[in-house]
Order: sequence, then C-alpha cells, then structure tokens
Amino acid sequence: MLVIGSGASGLAAALSAERAGARVALATKGSIQSCNSAKAQGGIQAALGPDDSPERHAQDIWTSSHETADMRLVEVLASEAPSAIHWLEELGVAFDRENGGYRLARCGGASAKRLLQVGDRTGHAITAALRDAVESSSVAVHPRSPLVSLEPGENGWRARCGERTLEATTVVLAAGGRCYAEARERGELSTNHPGATGEVTRLALELGAEARDLDALQYHPNGGAWPPTMQGYSIPETTRAYGAVLLNADGEEFCDSLAPRDVVSQAIFDEVAKGKGVETPDGRPAVWLDTTRIPVRDAERSLPYMLRRYRAGGIDPLREKILTYPVLHYQNGGLVIDTDAETTLEGLYACGEIAGGTHGRNRMMGNSLLECVVYGRRAGKAAAEKAKG
Ligand SMILES: Cc1cc2nc3c(=O)[nH]c(=O)nc-3n(C[C@H](O)[C@H](O)[C@H](O)COP(=O)(O)OP(=O)(O)OC[C@H]3O[C@@H](n4cnc5c(N)ncnc54)[C@H](O)[C@@H]3O)c2cc1C
Repeated sequence: MLVIGSGASGLAAALSAERAGARVALATKGSIQSCNSAKAQGGIQAALGPDDSPERHAQDIWTSSHETADMRLVEVLASEAPSAIHWLEELGVAFDRENGGYRLARCGGASAKRLLQVGDRTGHAITAALRDAVESSSVAVHPRSPLVSLEPGENGWRARCGERTLEATTVVLAAGGRCYAEARERGELSTNHPGATGEVTRLALELGAEARDLDALQYHPNGGAWPPTMQGYSIPETTRAYGAVLLNADGEEFCDSLAPRDVVSQAIFDEVAKGKGVETPDGRPAVWLDTTRIPVRDAERSLPYMLRRYRAGGIDPLREKILTYPVLHYQNGGLVIDTDAETTLEGLYACGEIAGGTHGRNRMMGNSLLECVVYGRRAGKAAAEKAKG
C-alpha cells in the first residue's frame, strides 16, 4: 500500500499499516521532516483529567463545530484519544507531567482541562517519535516525490510520485491542507509550511471523491503581528489558557479569550473594524495580547520556545503586552471519510487535515494532532487489511 505525506497522519498510517503486516511505501513532497505537524505547538487533547470524559470531549467538539461535525467521527476521535496518547508514549513522546499526573491546560471551547503538551513544541516531539519509528521499520520512504497523478490501476491504484510510478492496492492520502497557497492568493499571512498547497485534494475530487466544508478555513486568533520576525507565527493558544487576555487600544477586554477559535477571531476583526484596534509600526492591524498576566512558572514550563523567539526579537512577553491579529491557519473541511478513514472511493483513504467531518466547520485547538493519530492509525490498519485481503 501507498501513503502520501509525511506529517503526523501519514507517519501514523504508514507505521500502523506496516505493523498490520502490509508492504508499505510512503511518498512525500519535500524532505520527510517537512510538514505542518512538526510546527504544532500548543498540544493535543485527550480526556485524561479527573473531572473529564470522552463524552464531554465529544460534546465540546460538537458545540465548537456549531453542530456541524460528523458525530460518528467525533465519537471515535474522543473515545480513542486516551489510547492514542498511550501509543505515542510507547513510541517515546514524554508529555509534561506534574503532581504525579499529566500537566493539562484548558483550551478554547473546552469544558475541562484536557490539553497535553510537550512544552510548546508538541508537534515536533510527536513527529520526531513517529519518524524514528517509521525510519526503523520496513516502510520504504520516498522524499521529494510529490504525487502528481493518481488513477485506477490493474490491482488498485497507479500513482505518479515525482519521477516514480508506484502501484498499490490501497492508498492513504495524508497530504494536509491548503492554507499556505490560499493565503498567498489572498495576499495574507499563514502559519503553514510551503507544502500546504492542496493539489492532492484536487486530484481526489477529479477522481470523483466527495468532500465537505472545503470553504471553511480557520483563522488562528493569535498570529504574531510585531516584530516582523514573528509575523505568520501562531502564538500558542496556551498563552490564553494560562491567563493572557485580549485587549483593545483602550486596554479593555472585548471578548472571552477562551471562546472557540472562530468566535475569538471574529471578535478581533470586529474590534479593529470599530476603530478600537492598534496599528503595528509597519501599519498592520492588531490588538494587544496581555501576556504579562501569565504566571512566570507556567510561561517558563509551557511556552519556552515562544519566549525565546520573542526575546530574540527584542520583546519580553512577560514584561510587555504583544501585538496579535488572526492569521490563516487550518482547513476545517476536506474529503468525506467513514470511521475507517475510507473516502467515498473504494481503496482510497484520507486522514489528517485533508479529511473533513471530524471538526465540522470549526476545529478546536489540539484536536488536529489527535485526529492525525487516531485516524492515521485507523486508515493504516484498514488499508493494510484491505490490501492483504
Ligand atoms: C504553526 C501551527 C501550529 C499548530 N498547532 C497545533 C496544536 O497545537 N495542536 C493541534 O492539534 N494542531 C495544531 N496545528 C494543526 C496541525 O498541526 C495540523 O493540522 C496537522 O498536524 C496536519 O497534519 P497532516 O499530517 O494532516 O498534514 P501535514 O503535517 O501538513 O503533512 C502533510 C504532508 O503531505 C505532504 N504533501 C503535500 N502535498 C503533497 C503531494 N502532492 N505529494 C506528496 N506529499 C505531499 C507534505 O509535504 C507533508 O509532508 C498547528 C498547525 C500549524 C501550522
């Protein structure tokens, strides 16, 4: 079988398929390290706190999606989250702990503390562990081999990946979203890596696969607005989980800083439209994020990378407020899948950001890395079984 993409979802799918006994090839556009997953900072959700449950997690997703998510996918996501975390731990991911348990934060739209973290480089830790496992397995990795065409073949699919033609009984599409390309078209900033351009979704649509909510793109409420070195950087949402609040030019709080992402982003757009925003030194719109309210201990444990980057740019977020504005971040919708991650075309699977339904039209933070692991594993296993059968 063939996996397209080397983000968290592709790596999880390839590893699970190999462990299920399939002969697996993984083709990716750039180097194996190049993906959005490695850039993820804030964390990954799982109902592991004492006052939490998968049912509560599922309910929060449903509410944050404005009741547009596919509940079959959501229930699987929330109920398999704890086992996905333990699987990652077995692969070597060391989530932050305190007082004998996990260090959990509450993220926007969540009714309980549910976000596990590895400092503020959670995606880096997860992809490094998955990559190590894939590279020491029998998976054949083909870097710099972008998928350029896909068509039904004699025994499944024929894929042209760069210079190679690969035949596979089943194919898992794990090529991520399109926000880098979309932001360039709109003349906006994006948090995404340059490989997030969406051509694999287009290929699947041309083959007749169904998609949903493709128009629902998500703005991260807190793009860095100043200094220039931080423009396009996504300030981790954990800043707000640990006490930072949004303020307008008059120093007033104008929204619930822990509301779902689309609500917070819209509140910022509205505040700026009312003339209550702040202009950056290079003339961009912004509001304040008062990071001085974050306890120093929490910041040093959970935001070390952000602190380092701002301080290198001459700003200490624990001593002064920082400027922020929403930035194009995530493709909420994507290819329609079932709970085995199979698309509407037989033998063609999709997992991670390229798939739709799990978040409906508005994703909560921390559920994308989770989706990559839960549905990456499911896609890999199901595609392996179909390939063997
Ligand atoms: C800055 C940032 C911070 C984030 N923080 C969080 C967070 O804290 N928690 C959370 O849950 N989520 C977070 N997210 C979202 C999350 O990281 C991503 O949505 C998720 O990791 C996507 O994983 P993926 O495997 O689907 O795609 P990606 O990780 O983007 O991987 C896609 C892969 O497909 C490859 N590819 C693309 N096109 C082709 C092609 N034509 N042929 C072959 N290969 C191709 C790419 O090169 C890449 O290797 C963040 C995202 C960003 C950008």
